[in-house]
Amino acid sequence: MVSKYLLILVVLLAAIFIWRSNRKAALKVRKASEQRAKVIDMQPCRWCGVHIPSNDAVQGRHGPYCSVAHRLKAEP
Ligand SMILES: [Zn+2]
Repeated sequence: MVSKYLLILVVLLAAIFIWRSNRKAALKVRKASEQRAKVIDMQPCRWCGVHIPSNDAVQGRHGPYCSVAHRLKAEP
């Protein structure tokens, strides 16, 4: 009779182990996508406030701009 309980215990432990590893994998995927979102850094244009990726932004003396036209308007 003891072996029956032992079997249930082993099955239960296996189920918990599988559930935990699944949750870990899901957490990893979520963390990776969060980090990817952080890589694309958005900056607001100092003239019109439109958000642009920092590698597309035009850098002026006072900060980023969405276009050269706005940089020239803000910094004549
Ligand atoms: Zn702008």
